[in-house]
Amino acid sequence: MELRLYDTLSREKRTFVPLDAKNVRMYVCGPTVYDFAHIGNARPVIVFDVLFRLLRHLYGEAHVKYVRNITDVDDKINDRAARDFPGLPLNEAIRKVTEETGRQFHADVDALGALRPSVEPRATEHIGEMREIIERLVRGGFAYVAEDHVLFSPQAMNAANAGLPRYGALSKRSLDEMIAGARVDVAPYKKDSTDFVLWKPSKPGEPSWASPSGIKVEGRPGWHIECSAMAWKHLGEQFDIHGGGIDLVFPHHENEVAQTCCAFHQQRMANYWMHNGFLQVESEKMSKSLGNFITIHELLRDWPGEVLRLNMLKTHYTSPIDWTMKSLEESARTLDDWYRIAADVAPSKPAVSVLEALLDDLNTPQAIAALHGLRGSDVPALAGSLRLLGFLSESAAQWEGRKQQASGIDAKQVESLIAERTAARARKDFKESDRIRDQLAAMGIAIKDSKDGTTWEVAR
Ligand SMILES: [Zn+2]
Repeated sequence: MELRLYDTLSREKRTFVPLDAKNVRMYVCGPTVYDFAHIGNARPVIVFDVLFRLLRHLYGEAHVKYVRNITDVDDKINDRAARDFPGLPLNEAIRKVTEETGRQFHADVDALGALRPSVEPRATEHIGEMREIIERLVRGGFAYVAEDHVLFSPQAMNAANAGLPRYGALSKRSLDEMIAGARVDVAPYKKDSTDFVLWKPSKPGEPSWASPSGIKVEGRPGWHIECSAMAWKHLGEQFDIHGGGIDLVFPHHENEVAQTCCAFHQQRMANYWMHNGFLQVESEKMSKSLGNFITIHELLRDWPGEVLRLNMLKTHYTSPIDWTMKSLEESARTLDDWYRIAADVAPSKPAVSVLEALLDDLNTPQAIAALHGLRGSDVPALAGSLRLLGFLSESAAQWEGRKQQASGIDAKQVESLIAERTAARARKDFKESDRIRDQLAAMGIAIKDSKDGTTWEVAR
């Protein structure tokens, strides 16, 4: 069985061959910590967590390194800090925003059943690496200093033609078209409209660090250089998989490739580029102005994290996903069922049918269909497969208890009503027993009679 992954650069599914099977390396762009993560941000977290788990299953836990960064220097963070803490010095306010948002992000993704990555580097702890890459780019003639900025020149990159990829290859854009389509109000310090910022001067009060050589005033990095620096530091000049949302292909990932390949004279930065598709809510684009902007935090108040996880994985990661209430309710019912029959069963190895689906470019809809197939035939394999996918983190009783708590149901009251009903049935007072059953149904409780007595659960 071999793993095949769709690679955005070559536009085809390719067999995955790691550079070093003892050290399989993956980088995924993480959050910019300035606000609650929305449900669209949860998609790469869940998708690449499934890939991380699969790689660990295939190559061994000790042989897979997953890096997901935290961007803690950004204009959006500065704006938020100034708005929320107007009385504090900006740097202190920024620390409050990034610490609080970072903590919230971790709480959210833990609840989604995502394993913590091997390393979660912070941008502000890698300024030295950024400076070094920038200085290499200037020395190599790929970047230049102008008005205390450092700019990268895609045109210089494509003119060099020395064993480098072409700028635009990842996003399938031509540099000539980009030049022709450029806006007219280009910043005066740019030689060409397509040049992008590697480093910029900080305004008074803003976070600032010593600049790359040739610039006297302090400054701060552009966004793209952060990922090149952190990937280099933790994974080396070249690694196996780079992932992120489809909206990052251009310009972010195109620029990462340009920076890394030109700084280290490489033909490639990563061997496989993987991108997850967009997420819509009830068939509409999610936006703050439409009022359908939902955070992970809000959803977790109403649903267990595993329900959100299953709901996400029902769609293949490359396809757009339509996030609907109806689909969430279905996912919840499916998990209730799986918990009931598989959570307390000793798991066997994951089923071949589930693994084969995952090995085919993480075909999670097919894997879920295979899980439904196992339900009636091999419950230990169902349990093992669900665990591989990051489900069944609780016992059946914990799951049911949480559901009751979330629905505000008093288990003691339910138990005593069931006891009354059992007594009514024993004295053949069926009118009374039916009345109690209806009362329970109105409370959202479904009961089931068997020879061993009456069991109950919260009906979704
Ligand atoms: Zn990135």
